[in-house]
Amino acid sequence: CGIVGYIGSKEAYPIVLKGLKRLEYRGYDSAGVALLNQGLKVYKKKGKVAQLEEEAIGKNLQSHIGIGHTRWATHGEPSDRNAHPHQSKSGKLAMIHNGIIENYVSIKNELLKKGYSFKSDTDTEVLLNFIEDIKTNNECSLEEAVRIALRRVVGAYVILLIDEDNPDTIIAARKGSPLVIGIGKNEHFLASDASPIIEYTKEVVYVNDYELAIVKADELILKNLGNEKITPYIQKLDLELAAIE
Ligand code: GLU
Repeated sequence: CGIVGYIGSKEAYPIVLKGLKRLEYRGYDSAGVALLNQGLKVYKKKGKVAQLEEEAIGKNLQSHIGIGHTRWATHGEPSDRNAHPHQSKSGKLAMIHNGIIENYVSIKNELLKKGYSFKSDTDTEVLLNFIEDIKTNNECSLEEAVRIALRRVVGAYVILLIDEDNPDTIIAARKGSPLVIGIGKNEHFLASDASPIIEYTKEVVYVNDYELAIVKADELILKNLGNEKITPYIQKLDLELAAIE
């Protein structure tokens, strides 16, 4: 299972797709991508990345922002509808997630009482709608809603979110599952490990547990769940590793 994200001046889809292929070795049962180009486009499929690629042929794939996922099902069988990215109730947010939200049942019950319905059996769709519900009720930014939601969450996760209303930002967060951000020239790459990033840049930031990244093409902001800024620690990727690639 793995996650990939891209934001910058290049076309996102080919980079995200190639990144997913680099992460195939981790094992998975479904794959999907979300792109933003005059609205959210989500393509996802049970099976291999190659099947997702086939599914996407002829579709509108133009975008400078994209997130991609390979899923290792924990909640809900492997299927097209349980594959990530998931879309929020309003249709405006898309999210991918590796890990498990352990207290998703109690959050799901709260949302069901409020009239929410779910298109998948995943814990991920519950967290996504929980985030959107907070954003709507508190009239706050997506970033703030993610922070509030994650303070309630028990479990392990790495999540990437994109928002139709803010097409210049990827929001990322992690606890327990890995997240690396590659820093390019007017572009950023996000992934579960450095293998999808190394061909583009050697400068990376390893995001720590309970940190949130607000990623734009030309800016990377790290914060903790208390909304305090953290200075990103930029590391150089190992040159030997780069030679292998
Ligand atoms: N728990 C999520 C699901 O079952 C994410 C699984 C994963 O790590 O890929 O959809």
